[in-house]
Amino acid sequence: MPQTVLVTGGAGYIGSHAVKGLQASGYNVIVLDNLVYGHREIIEEVLQAKLIKGDISDRALLDNLFASHQIDAVMHFAAYIFVGESVENPAKYYRNNVVGTLTLLEAMVAAGIKNLVFSSTCATYGPPQQIPLTEDHPQFPISPYGMTKLMVEKMLADFDSAYGLKSVCFRYFNAAGADPSGKQGEDHNPETHLIPLVLLAALGKRSAISIFGTDYPTPDGTCIRDYIHVSDLAQAHILGVQYLLEQGESAAFNLGNGNGFSVKEVIETAKQVTGRDFKVELRDRRPGDPAVLVGSSEKAQKVLGWQPQYSSLETMIDHAWQWHQQRHC
Ligand code: UDP
Repeated sequence: MPQTVLVTGGAGYIGSHAVKGLQASGYNVIVLDNLVYGHREIIEEVLQAKLIKGDISDRALLDNLFASHQIDAVMHFAAYIFVGESVENPAKYYRNNVVGTLTLLEAMVAAGIKNLVFSSTCATYGPPQQIPLTEDHPQFPISPYGMTKLMVEKMLADFDSAYGLKSVCFRYFNAAGADPSGKQGEDHNPETHLIPLVLLAALGKRSAISIFGTDYPTPDGTCIRDYIHVSDLAQAHILGVQYLLEQGESAAFNLGNGNGFSVKEVIETAKQVTGRDFKVELRDRRPGDPAVLVGSSEKAQKVLGWQPQYSSLETMIDHAWQWHQQRHC
C-alpha cells in the first residue's frame, strides 16, 4: 500500500512541485487548498491529484478528512507569503499562518498523525550576523510574516515534546525556476519576486524592471540572494517525509544553493537566456532588504542526502522562461 501525504497549500507554487515529486516517488497525495492563491487546474488537470477545497482553519473539515483517509504525513505549505502585506495587515497573517496552523496541528494530534513537513523561511533569521547563514543562527525576524513562521517553528518544538508530533522545518532561501516540463511554475498575484518580474519585462508584459538599490556593499552594488530551484526544494520535501517516516528526530534545515547572485546578475542572465532586451530602472532601496542573504545547506545534504540538481542561474531562469512563455502565449 502506498503511503498517503496530505499537502496543504498544494495548489501553490512550491506545494504543487512537491505534489509532483511525491507522485513520482510513489506516494498517494491529497491536496487541501482554499484556492485563494492556489490554482485548481494544476492539481486537477496537470497533476491529476485529489483536491479538497477547504481551509486549514476549518477544524470540522480536518477532522472529517483525517477520519476518512489514512494519512501518514502532512506537508504544510498553506500560508500567506507577502512580507509587505504582513506589515500592513499583520492580523491576517497571524490568523491564517499561526492560528490556522494551530488548528491543523490540533487536528493532527487528535487523529494520531505524527509527521509534519513545514514550509518555513530564511526570513525567520532576520538581519544576518554572518554569511552563509547556518541553522543555529539566532532567529529575530523583522517582519510579521517571518514572525508567523518562527511562531510555528516554536509551536512544533512544543508539540513534539508534549505530543510526540515530529516535524521537519525547511527554511527556504529564494525559490526560483519551474518544473522542467514547462507545465507548472510560479504564478503569484500580485507578483513581487525578482525573476518572474524580470521575465514579464522580457515578455513585454511589464514596461521595465526596477532595481531596488544600487549602493549596497556588494561587488556591483545590488543585493545578493541565494536562488534555489523549486524542483530541488520539492525533492528535499520528499526526503524530509521519508526521514520522518523512518523515525527521524524533529529538525530544521536550510534549503538554498549556497551561491549568491546579485540583482544585476539575474537581469543580465535573463537577457542572455531570453535573447530579449528590456528597460531597467534604478530605484531606491526597498525597506527591510539585507544586502546579502546566502545560506548553508550542508545540514540537509548531510542528514537527508539532499543534492540540488539545478544549481545554475541559467537553468533556473531558463525553466522559468519556458513556463512564462507557455503561460502567456
Ligand atoms: N528586487 C528588485 N526589483 C524587483 C523585485 C525585487 O530589485 O522588482 C530585488 C529585491 O530588492 C531583493 C531581490 O531582488 O534584493 C530579491 O527579491 P525578491 O522579492 O524576489 O525576494 P526576497 O529576497 O525579498 O525574498
